[in-house]
Amino acid sequence: TVTLDDLRKEFDNGQIVAVDDLSLDVTDGEFITVVGPSGCGKSTTLRMLAGLEQPTEGRIAIDGEDVTEIHARSRDVAMVFQNYALYPHKTVQQNMAFGLRMSTDLSKEERDELVYETAEMMGIEELLDDRPNELSGGQKQRVALGRAIVREPDVFLFDEPLSNLDAKLRTSMRTEIQRLQNDLATTSIYVTHDQEEAMTMGDRIVILNDGELQQVGKPKEVYQNPVNKFVGGFVGSPS
Ligand code: ATP
Ligand code: MG
Repeated sequence: TVTLDDLRKEFDNGQIVAVDDLSLDVTDGEFITVVGPSGCGKSTTLRMLAGLEQPTEGRIAIDGEDVTEIHARSRDVAMVFQNYALYPHKTVQQNMAFGLRMSTDLSKEERDELVYETAEMMGIEELLDDRPNELSGGQKQRVALGRAIVREPDVFLFDEPLSNLDAKLRTSMRTEIQRLQNDLATTSIYVTHDQEEAMTMGDRIVILNDGELQQVGKPKEVYQNPVNKFVGGFVGSPS
Protein backbone atom coordinates (compact mmCIF):
# COMPACT_ATOMS: atom_id res chain seq x y z
CA THR A 1 0.00 0.00 0.00
CA VAL A 2 1.17 3.48 -0.86
CA THR A 3 0.04 6.05 1.65
CA LEU A 4 0.09 9.78 1.06
CA ASP A 5 -0.58 11.51 4.32
CA ASP A 6 -1.41 15.24 4.22
CA LEU A 7 1.19 15.73 1.54
CA ARG A 8 1.95 19.35 0.79
CA LYS A 9 4.41 20.97 -1.59
CA GLU A 10 5.10 24.67 -1.74
CA PHE A 11 7.42 26.46 -4.14
CA ASP A 12 8.85 29.97 -4.02
CA ASN A 13 8.58 30.36 -0.25
CA GLY A 14 4.94 29.34 -0.17
CA GLN A 15 3.78 31.62 -2.96
CA ILE A 16 2.94 28.53 -5.00
CA VAL A 17 1.07 25.65 -3.40
CA ALA A 18 1.54 22.88 -5.94
CA VAL A 19 0.04 20.12 -3.77
CA ASP A 20 -2.34 21.03 -0.99
CA ASP A 21 -2.71 18.53 1.88
CA LEU A 22 -3.24 15.47 -0.27
CA SER A 23 -4.15 12.21 1.43
CA LEU A 24 -4.65 8.99 -0.47
CA ASP A 25 -4.21 5.23 -0.06
CA VAL A 26 -3.31 3.17 -3.09
CA THR A 27 -3.76 -0.52 -2.38
CA ASP A 28 -1.46 -3.34 -3.51
CA GLY A 29 -1.91 -4.31 -7.14
CA GLU A 30 -4.15 -1.35 -7.82
CA PHE A 31 -3.87 0.71 -11.00
CA ILE A 32 -4.88 4.23 -10.11
CA THR A 33 -5.10 7.01 -12.67
CA VAL A 34 -4.65 10.70 -11.87
CA VAL A 35 -6.16 13.49 -13.94
CA GLY A 36 -6.59 17.23 -13.66
CA PRO A 37 -5.80 20.40 -15.58
CA SER A 38 -2.31 21.56 -16.38
CA GLY A 39 -0.57 22.83 -13.26
CA CYS A 40 -2.85 21.02 -10.78
CA GLY A 41 0.08 19.20 -9.16
CA LYS A 42 0.12 15.80 -10.85
CA SER A 43 3.82 15.69 -11.68
CA THR A 44 4.79 17.23 -8.36
CA THR A 45 2.89 14.48 -6.56
CA LEU A 46 4.65 11.76 -8.54
CA ARG A 47 8.02 13.44 -8.07
CA MET A 48 7.53 13.43 -4.31
CA LEU A 49 6.60 9.74 -4.43
CA ALA A 50 9.72 9.03 -6.46
CA GLY A 51 11.88 11.02 -4.05
CA LEU A 52 12.82 13.60 -6.68
CA GLU A 53 11.13 16.34 -4.71
CA GLN A 54 10.95 16.74 -0.94
CA PRO A 55 7.49 17.49 0.49
CA THR A 56 7.08 20.71 2.47
CA GLU A 57 4.81 18.84 4.87
CA GLY A 58 3.28 15.41 5.24
CA ARG A 59 4.58 11.93 4.79
CA ILE A 60 4.76 9.10 2.29
CA ALA A 61 4.70 5.46 3.33
CA ILE A 62 5.13 2.32 1.25
CA ASP A 63 3.86 -0.86 2.88
CA GLY A 64 3.82 0.93 6.20
CA GLU A 65 7.42 2.11 5.97
CA ASP A 66 7.91 5.86 6.07
CA VAL A 67 10.00 6.70 3.00
CA THR A 68 9.65 10.48 3.16
CA GLU A 69 13.34 10.85 3.98
CA ILE A 70 14.56 7.91 1.91
CA HIS A 71 16.69 8.74 -1.11
CA ALA A 72 15.13 8.23 -4.56
CA ARG A 73 17.53 5.47 -5.54
CA SER A 74 16.73 3.44 -2.43
CA ARG A 75 12.98 3.57 -2.84
CA ASP A 76 11.04 0.62 -4.22
CA VAL A 77 9.56 2.76 -6.97
CA ALA A 78 10.27 3.30 -10.65
CA MET A 79 9.10 6.26 -12.68
CA VAL A 80 8.38 6.50 -16.39
CA PHE A 81 8.45 9.99 -17.86
CA GLN A 82 6.66 11.61 -20.78
CA ASN A 83 9.95 12.59 -22.45
CA TYR A 84 11.50 9.14 -21.71
CA ALA A 85 14.42 10.71 -19.80
CA LEU A 86 16.97 8.33 -21.32
CA TYR A 87 20.68 9.03 -21.11
CA PRO A 88 21.61 10.06 -24.67
CA HIS A 89 25.23 8.91 -24.51
CA LYS A 90 24.45 5.51 -23.03
CA THR A 91 23.31 2.49 -25.04
CA VAL A 92 19.92 0.90 -24.49
CA GLN A 93 21.64 -1.82 -22.48
CA GLN A 94 23.38 0.77 -20.28
CA ASN A 95 20.21 2.81 -19.89
CA MET A 96 18.32 -0.25 -18.74
CA ALA A 97 21.10 -1.43 -16.44
CA PHE A 98 20.96 1.96 -14.81
CA GLY A 99 17.46 1.10 -13.64
CA LEU A 100 18.79 -1.76 -11.53
CA ARG A 101 18.80 -0.94 -7.90
CA MET A 102 22.08 0.02 -6.31
CA SER A 103 21.31 -2.39 -3.52
CA THR A 104 20.88 -5.32 -5.92
CA ASP A 105 23.48 -7.86 -4.98
CA LEU A 106 24.04 -9.31 -8.43
CA SER A 107 27.10 -10.18 -10.47
CA LYS A 108 27.76 -8.45 -13.79
CA GLU A 109 26.55 -11.57 -15.63
CA GLU A 110 23.35 -11.73 -13.62
CA ARG A 111 22.68 -8.05 -14.26
CA ASP A 112 23.24 -8.49 -18.00
CA GLU A 113 20.94 -11.50 -18.00
CA LEU A 114 18.20 -9.57 -16.20
CA VAL A 115 18.47 -6.68 -18.64
CA TYR A 116 18.38 -9.08 -21.58
CA GLU A 117 15.30 -10.92 -20.28
CA THR A 118 13.48 -7.65 -19.73
CA ALA A 119 14.49 -6.40 -23.18
CA GLU A 120 13.06 -9.60 -24.67
CA MET A 121 9.85 -9.12 -22.75
CA MET A 122 9.57 -5.60 -24.22
CA GLY A 123 10.62 -6.75 -27.71
CA ILE A 124 13.68 -4.50 -27.79
CA GLU A 125 16.48 -7.08 -27.45
CA GLU A 126 17.69 -6.18 -30.95
CA LEU A 127 18.20 -2.57 -29.85
CA LEU A 128 20.45 -3.14 -26.84
CA ASP A 129 23.55 -1.68 -28.50
CA ASP A 130 21.76 1.32 -29.99
CA ARG A 131 21.69 4.80 -28.53
CA PRO A 132 18.42 6.67 -27.85
CA ASN A 133 18.78 9.05 -30.82
CA GLU A 134 18.72 6.04 -33.15
CA LEU A 135 15.30 4.97 -31.86
CA SER A 136 11.73 5.93 -32.68
CA GLY A 137 9.47 7.46 -30.03
CA GLY A 138 7.72 4.16 -29.44
CA GLN A 139 11.02 2.32 -29.08
CA LYS A 140 12.32 4.94 -26.62
CA GLN A 141 9.22 4.54 -24.53
CA ARG A 142 9.71 0.76 -24.53
CA VAL A 143 13.26 1.26 -23.28
CA ALA A 144 11.99 3.62 -20.59
CA LEU A 145 9.41 1.03 -19.55
CA GLY A 146 12.06 -1.69 -19.62
CA ARG A 147 14.32 0.39 -17.41
CA ALA A 148 11.47 0.70 -14.90
CA ILE A 149 10.57 -3.00 -15.03
CA VAL A 150 14.13 -4.28 -14.62
CA ARG A 151 14.14 -2.57 -11.27
CA GLU A 152 11.34 -4.87 -10.09
CA PRO A 153 9.72 -2.06 -8.14
CA ASP A 154 6.80 -2.37 -5.77
CA VAL A 155 5.33 0.76 -7.29
CA PHE A 156 5.28 2.12 -10.83
CA LEU A 157 4.85 5.85 -11.35
CA PHE A 158 3.82 6.97 -14.83
CA ASP A 159 3.84 10.64 -15.82
CA GLU A 160 1.91 10.94 -19.08
CA PRO A 161 4.01 8.15 -20.60
CA LEU A 162 2.09 7.91 -23.87
CA SER A 163 1.33 11.52 -24.71
CA ASN A 164 4.25 11.87 -27.14
CA LEU A 165 3.19 8.83 -29.15
CA ASP A 166 0.83 8.74 -32.13
CA ALA A 167 -2.70 7.44 -31.61
CA LYS A 168 -2.05 3.92 -32.90
CA LEU A 169 1.04 3.39 -30.77
CA ARG A 170 -0.75 4.87 -27.80
CA THR A 171 -3.45 2.22 -28.03
CA SER A 172 -1.00 -0.67 -28.29
CA MET A 173 1.24 0.65 -25.49
CA ARG A 174 -1.82 1.10 -23.33
CA THR A 175 -2.66 -2.59 -23.75
CA GLU A 176 0.94 -3.48 -23.04
CA ILE A 177 1.07 -1.46 -19.82
CA GLN A 178 -2.12 -3.16 -18.66
CA ARG A 179 -0.66 -6.57 -19.48
CA LEU A 180 2.48 -5.72 -17.50
CA GLN A 181 0.36 -4.56 -14.60
CA ASN A 182 -1.44 -7.91 -14.60
CA ASP A 183 1.68 -10.03 -15.04
CA LEU A 184 3.81 -8.21 -12.50
CA ALA A 185 0.96 -7.42 -10.07
CA THR A 186 2.57 -4.09 -9.27
CA THR A 187 0.88 -1.07 -7.84
CA SER A 188 0.69 1.72 -10.41
CA ILE A 189 -0.01 5.42 -10.23
CA TYR A 190 -0.64 6.68 -13.73
CA VAL A 191 -0.90 10.39 -14.56
CA THR A 192 -2.55 11.36 -17.80
CA HIS A 193 -4.32 14.37 -19.24
CA ASP A 194 -6.38 12.00 -21.38
CA GLN A 195 -9.70 11.61 -19.58
CA GLU A 196 -10.66 8.60 -21.70
CA GLU A 197 -7.36 6.88 -20.87
CA ALA A 198 -7.89 7.57 -17.17
CA MET A 199 -11.45 6.24 -17.18
CA THR A 200 -10.70 3.03 -19.08
CA MET A 201 -7.34 2.13 -17.50
CA GLY A 202 -7.95 3.01 -13.87
CA ASP A 203 -9.29 0.68 -11.19
CA ARG A 204 -9.87 4.01 -9.50
CA ILE A 205 -9.48 7.53 -10.78
CA VAL A 206 -8.18 10.54 -8.84
CA ILE A 207 -9.25 14.02 -9.90
CA LEU A 208 -7.06 16.93 -8.82
CA ASN A 209 -7.63 20.63 -9.21
CA ASP A 210 -5.37 23.40 -8.00
CA GLY A 211 -3.32 21.01 -5.87
CA GLU A 212 -6.38 19.65 -4.10
CA LEU A 213 -7.97 16.24 -4.29
CA GLN A 214 -11.49 16.63 -5.68
CA GLN A 215 -12.64 13.04 -5.82
CA VAL A 216 -11.34 9.51 -5.89
CA GLY A 217 -13.36 6.45 -6.84
CA LYS A 218 -14.13 3.84 -9.44
CA PRO A 219 -14.45 5.51 -12.86
CA LYS A 220 -18.10 4.54 -13.20
CA GLU A 221 -18.98 5.84 -9.74
CA VAL A 222 -17.21 9.13 -10.32
CA TYR A 223 -18.91 9.46 -13.69
CA GLN A 224 -22.33 8.76 -12.19
CA ASN A 225 -21.86 10.70 -8.99
CA PRO A 226 -19.39 13.54 -9.42
CA VAL A 227 -18.99 15.47 -6.15
CA ASN A 228 -18.98 18.84 -7.89
CA LYS A 229 -19.32 20.60 -11.21
CA PHE A 230 -15.60 20.57 -11.81
CA VAL A 231 -15.38 16.78 -11.56
CA GLY A 232 -18.54 16.31 -13.60
CA GLY A 233 -17.17 18.51 -16.34
CA PHE A 234 -13.82 16.83 -16.24
CA VAL A 235 -15.04 13.25 -16.58
CA GLY A 236 -17.83 14.21 -18.98
CA SER A 237 -20.78 13.32 -16.76
CA PRO A 238 -24.19 14.13 -18.20
CA SER A 239 -25.50 17.18 -16.34
P1 ATP B 1 0.91 19.41 -16.43
O1 ATP B 1 -0.42 18.74 -16.74
O2 ATP B 1 1.07 20.66 -17.24
O3 ATP B 1 2.07 18.50 -16.52
P2 ATP B 1 0.95 19.18 -13.53
O4 ATP B 1 -0.40 18.84 -13.00
O5 ATP B 1 1.91 18.05 -13.68
O6 ATP B 1 0.78 19.97 -14.92
P3 ATP B 1 2.94 20.33 -11.80
O7 ATP B 1 4.06 20.24 -12.75
O8 ATP B 1 2.91 19.37 -10.68
O9 ATP B 1 1.55 20.29 -12.57
O10 ATP B 1 2.96 21.83 -11.21
C1 ATP B 1 2.07 22.22 -10.17
C2 ATP B 1 2.34 23.69 -9.85
O11 ATP B 1 3.62 23.82 -9.25
C3 ATP B 1 2.34 24.61 -11.05
O12 ATP B 1 1.80 25.84 -10.66
C4 ATP B 1 3.82 24.75 -11.37
O13 ATP B 1 4.08 25.97 -12.01
C5 ATP B 1 4.44 24.70 -9.99
N1 ATP B 1 5.81 24.16 -9.99
C6 ATP B 1 6.17 22.89 -10.32
N2 ATP B 1 7.50 22.70 -10.17
C7 ATP B 1 7.99 23.89 -9.74
C8 ATP B 1 9.30 24.36 -9.40
N3 ATP B 1 10.37 23.55 -9.45
N4 ATP B 1 9.43 25.65 -9.00
C9 ATP B 1 8.35 26.47 -8.93
N5 ATP B 1 7.09 26.09 -9.22
C10 ATP B 1 6.90 24.82 -9.63
MG1 MG C 1 2.96 17.28 -15.30
